[in-house]
Amino acid sequence: MPAFFIRSDEIREDHIVLSGDLSRHLKASLRVKVGESILLTDERRRRYRARVADVAGPGLTATIYDSQEGPEEKWPSLLLAQAVLKGDHMDWVIQKSSELGVRSILPLIARRGVVRPRPDRLAGQLARWQRIATEAAQQSEQWEPPRILEPLDSEAFFFSHPTSQAFILLEHHRGTGLLDVALPAKAGACIGLAVGPEGGWAREEIEAAQEGGLHSVTLGPQILRAETAAVSAVSILQCRLGRLG
Ligand code: SAM
Repeated sequence: MPAFFIRSDEIREDHIVLSGDLSRHLKASLRVKVGESILLTDERRRRYRARVADVAGPGLTATIYDSQEGPEEKWPSLLLAQAVLKGDHMDWVIQKSSELGVRSILPLIARRGVVRPRPDRLAGQLARWQRIATEAAQQSEQWEPPRILEPLDSEAFFFSHPTSQAFILLEHHRGTGLLDVALPAKAGACIGLAVGPEGGWAREEIEAAQEGGLHSVTLGPQILRAETAAVSAVSILQCRLGRLG
């Protein structure tokens, strides 16, 4: 059972009163019964084990029988700046990187991207990606959902990335691998990782990334699909940071 995210204002002393989407999902999709245990995490990174007490009304009530604080953040956080990919490839990157514990995902508008979000559909697209990220974080029992950030043009990101250190995954690059680069160690640090689109990075983007202080890194001589490169690189970084294992 996933650890569902709730708001702390849904907690009333020793019970939780859920309404809206989560209540409907628990009752209609998961068909939880009175007496069943559910796992809930609030925005203060506090997790509750609660027993379903009432499903009869419009919402759902559960009685808390155990709670715990989330672990203190010991590692830097990861920001994945992923060039927008076609169709469900982007959904897949968002889902897998959320399971792997990235803190935020910034959709990049890259010169050689096959698709770019249409302004009139952007709000819906971001809300959909946020749902995918939140569901993946719940399923993997993360302590908070990743944030889907407002999209940026790739070169704008390269010159204004809000990170302690940022890397650009560069295909056809014979340089340093992700295993060998120095990483910041402070828990409050943020590591950025930029991954290109199906068509790869344009020369202007590579130059802008280098001027913007991003370190070029390689995943070896093979040319990976963007989604494979993104998930491989996030896995390597999370492993090195001690989050995986
Ligand atoms: N169309 C490009 C080409 O054939 O050269 C390939 C682009 S690749 C499908 C998409 C993105 O994945 C790249 O821009 C890069 O960010 C990343 N990538 C793929 N293979 C990589 C590798 N071996 N090392 C570093 N990054 C890689």
